[in-house]
Parts: sequence; structure tokens; C-alpha cells
Amino acid sequence: MDLDKLRVNGGRLRHSLEEMAKIGATPAGGVQRLACSDEDGRARDLFVSWLEEIDCTVTVDAMGNIFGRYEGANPALDPVLSGSHIDSQPKGGRFDGILGVMGPLEVLRTLHENGVRPERPIVIVDWTNEEGSRFAPAMVASGVWAGALDLQWAYDRTDINGIKQGDELERIGYKGSVPCESWPVHAYYELHIEQGPRLEATGNIIGAPKGVLCLHWYDIHLEGQANQVGPTPMEGRHDALVAAAEMIVAVRALPASMGGNMVATVGEIHNYPNSRNIIPDGVHFTIDIRSWDDQLALDAFEKLRGQMLGIAEEHGCPIRIEETWKVEHAPFDRGLVQRLLEVGRDLGYPTLRMVSGAGHDASYVNQLAPSAMIFVPSIGGRSHVEVEETSWEDCEAGANALLHCLLRSASEG
Ligand SMILES: [Zn+2]
Repeated sequence: MDLDKLRVNGGRLRHSLEEMAKIGATPAGGVQRLACSDEDGRARDLFVSWLEEIDCTVTVDAMGNIFGRYEGANPALDPVLSGSHIDSQPKGGRFDGILGVMGPLEVLRTLHENGVRPERPIVIVDWTNEEGSRFAPAMVASGVWAGALDLQWAYDRTDINGIKQGDELERIGYKGSVPCESWPVHAYYELHIEQGPRLEATGNIIGAPKGVLCLHWYDIHLEGQANQVGPTPMEGRHDALVAAAEMIVAVRALPASMGGNMVATVGEIHNYPNSRNIIPDGVHFTIDIRSWDDQLALDAFEKLRGQMLGIAEEHGCPIRIEETWKVEHAPFDRGLVQRLLEVGRDLGYPTLRMVSGAGHDASYVNQLAPSAMIFVPSIGGRSHVEVEETSWEDCEAGANALLHCLLRSASEG
């Protein structure tokens, strides 16, 4: 058969996504399928049953990662890998993660029903706990697999009730016997919703990110002087919250003044004692700076540091700056990104070269194996919310792009 003409079954993909969306469905149309919860367990069971229907060999590793192997004509060759995550945010959407598991499943169903046996094996993966919302941090299981995180440490992560991740994996029946460690991968593709507005805004169907932005985290601690708000005159106050407010505005203004594709965000703030009639004497807030250019992000923070020291001085509020976490920008494999651009062109899908602002399991896999991601549009650019939406046509387009990327990689000797 002419493999170039092969297409996935969009209706079947939609049905799989709708069946998965029933597990942990929320009244407002989203899903809540927290890592290692009962819902995660039920969705995994369904996924495994679907893998078995198309004669995939299923293995579960010690971190609960589920691998479904579709044998190649030459089983000795390193497999091509594709997957994402079944877990969701609390009150998350029906596409984040699960599209990247149902997409390759639909690809394998298409190969199976057409009797297509590529040269290399193709393996689907569901990475445990990508979201990190029940057990921090995010992408923990792909991190353990890649050797960047320790297995026992991951088991010992607790949720807000003090329950350990390892115990929950065991309880839902997915603490597997296979060691959680990497093996040679010929190529890795992760299909995912964009979670941003660019594809929709530019009228593109497929996004080909050249890599993931760098990520720099800071924690800022400000000290003020508490006092009763009524009798204390406005002059001479040391109001830590007002100082923080000016700093937050400076963070907001930073990307525009630096140029490049930078974003900077204050997402978390704690005010002490947080009482309406006491001048705040302590504030802790976080800063998240992302850019394709690591040095530009560092330069931006140096500029911001100067501004913050000035503001702190002006308000007489001592400041402590913590550099919490730094991840360098991560380019995906050029050859695979180029392949996706070619596949998009061959299939007639407008395809955009872009960057990924968010980290994904592909970030860890990318450290070990040639990797790329395939983005499809998020309607309204919304994600991690119940109204998260991607059209069924775009899901199908993404799966078709994945099909042909996988076929081309799996046919390489
Ligand atoms: Zn995701």
C-alpha cells in the first residue's frame, strides 16, 4: 500500500478522547485526573486494554510509566518512542497530555488495521505525573527515567495529605517491576496542545517548536515595619507590600524593555501578617523569567535586580533575593523538527516554526534521545482550565502529522 496516503481515523481518535474525558469529568466540562488517583488508575486500565487490543506488548516500570510496544520488522533496532501524560491538573482540560497518548494510540491502530509493520518498533508511553500538581515536581517520572531524578526521592514526594507518591502508585496497581531507566531511543515525538494563542492567531494548524525556553526562578523576600494603620502617618512608613507592588510592575515591564521572546511573571505572593489594619511587614513573591536566549534572561534579571534594590531602598525595606532554579533553553533535534515541517507541508497543513514556553516530558527525553514536539492549536490559547479546547479536526491533523513523522523515523535502518 502507498504509505504516503495513509491517514488516521479522526472519528475514532475523537471517540477515544471522549471516553477518556469521562474519567474524572468535571461538571464544567473539564477533567480532574490527578497523578496516581483512582481516576488516573481507571484511565490507565482503559489505555492498557486498548494497547492489548492491537497486540502491543505492555510493560510498566517502577515509576509507573506505561510502555506499549508495537513490534517492528526488525525488533533488534532501537524503537521510535511517542507519548505524553494521562494525568491532569485539578479542574484541568480534556486535551492536555491525553492527546499525546491517544494520538500515538490512533497511529498504532491505523498501522495495525492496515497491516503496516515498520522497520523499527514503535513504543507509546504514558509518563506518570507530568503535571506535578498533586505531587511536586512536574515531569517527575520522565525525569527518573532520564536519570535526572532519584527513584526513591520521587516515591517519597507527598501530596497535601502527606500521602506518598510511591504508595499511591502501588495502590492503583502501577508500581511496575521493570526498572525505571532509559534505554536507547531512535527518535521521540510528543504530540501536545500548544497551550498558547500563536497557532490560532496566525492561522496555522501544526506548530513545530525548535525547543523549550530557558526557565529562571527567583524568590524575593521583603521586610517592612508593622504598625497600626490608623495612627501611623503616610510619611515614613516601611510598607513591604507597596514596595512589592512596584517591583511586580517592574517585572511586568521587563520583557518589553529587553526584546527577544521573553516572558516574565509574578505568580505567587504571600503578605504578612495579611491583616487589613496592620502595615505589612513581610512579603514573599516569586519571579519566573523565560527566554530562548539564556544570557538575555540573565541580563534582564540583573537590570531588574538594580531596580528592585532601588525600590527597596526608597521604602526602607530590606530585601533578600534567592535564585531558586535555573534550566537552560533546550533546542530539540534539528533533523526531527525539519522532518515535522516537511510532513506538515506534504500533508497540506500550514505549519509554524515556534518555541515552547512550557516544559514537557520531551524536555527530559531530549537530554538522551533526538526529540521533537508537535503542537496543535488551543482555542483562545487557554489551557490548565476546564474550558481548554482544541477542534477535533486539529486533533486529527496532529495525529496525521505524528503518523508520518513516526513512519519516516521508523523506516530508517
Ligand atoms: Zn501537558
